Amino acid sequence: MSIVELARPEIQALHPYEAAEQLDGTVRLNANESPEASDPRPFRRPLNRYPEVRPRRLQQSLAARFGCAPDQLLVTRGSSEAIDLIIRTFCRAGVDNIVTHAPSFSMYRHYAAVQGASVSEVHTLPEQDFRIDAEALLAECNSTTRLVFVCSPNNPTGTLLPVADLETLLRGRREQSAVIVDEAYIEFAGVPSVTGLLEKHSNLLVLRTLSKALGFAGARCGAVIGQPAVISMLNAVQAPYALATPVVECVEDALSDTQAAEASVNRIVAERERVFRQLSGYDFVTKVWPSAANFLLVQFKDAAAVIRYCENSKILLRHFGGDLADCARISVGSASENDRLLQVLETFGGRSRG
Ligand code: PMP
Repeated sequence: MSIVELARPEIQALHPYEAAEQLDGTVRLNANESPEASDPRPFRRPLNRYPEVRPRRLQQSLAARFGCAPDQLLVTRGSSEAIDLIIRTFCRAGVDNIVTHAPSFSMYRHYAAVQGASVSEVHTLPEQDFRIDAEALLAECNSTTRLVFVCSPNNPTGTLLPVADLETLLRGRREQSAVIVDEAYIEFAGVPSVTGLLEKHSNLLVLRTLSKALGFAGARCGAVIGQPAVISMLNAVQAPYALATPVVECVEDALSDTQAAEASVNRIVAERERVFRQLSGYDFVTKVWPSAANFLLVQFKDAAAVIRYCENSKILLRHFGGDLADCARISVGSASENDRLLQVLETFGGRSRG
């Protein structure tokens, strides 16, 4: 008998998050990161002192950036932490339920498992371009459904949920469930954030992150936005001093000038369209889905062979199992990284024909 067996059975069965591989000397198109490095300055506050229990200035500048009042926003360690806080705040272990769509970001299911909340999924279909069906999500809810997670643009399909459909969902669940819209990739979508709906829909929560368009994945900083009473509860659940001084200061500095980040988004969107067109022309590619994010979901005649070939050429792509076993998710890199990818794929095509 080991103390391992004293742990909750669902935790004993839990696997850690399968993060994208990180290998030196490779082109990393497997984690939806920004290809452009941010430039942090040295920090100002002494590290013998605790950071502010909640970083007030950062909260204000994130609120200004995301278009809400400071008391509608909690700064979190990436949006991943926000997902965990929301599930722990709303779901009673062994009782409450979460509804979401699949395929999507795996952490909704993961944190639900940690909390002992059940998950019901609505499957979206490749032949319908993975359209997220608000009515089907509503039909999946029952009296124990506390949370509905929608990822828009969705990882890994790039699908966007139209605002009218989101409003159907928000109205359909009103006081019965919080509806969380994960907008990790919204800057690449060319549409505004749904934060503007907060006044009208008190059951809306919005997740934002600095990990993608702003190029700060390494700083671990994100936010959850919602009505102040909900933000207060999430604040009470979050660990004190959650955000470290170096992180707070480097993100504060980065937010004082975001022109470079905005230019980077434009470059990535243009590159996404270029890579989309090129990939669509290859005879070993069977489908490329349109994407509102900084990645493309691509279906191949033999996905495993393509991914292996790229890996041997030091380019990392993301492979998922299950329904997406014949696909790879390819993050849009810098122009030169994308050129390298396309060059390698040309030789793959030449070899498979030869
Ligand atoms: N939501 C989605 C849809 C994501 O793809 C990711 C990261 N891959 C996250 C949230 C979490 O990002 P972070 O914790 O870095 O903010």
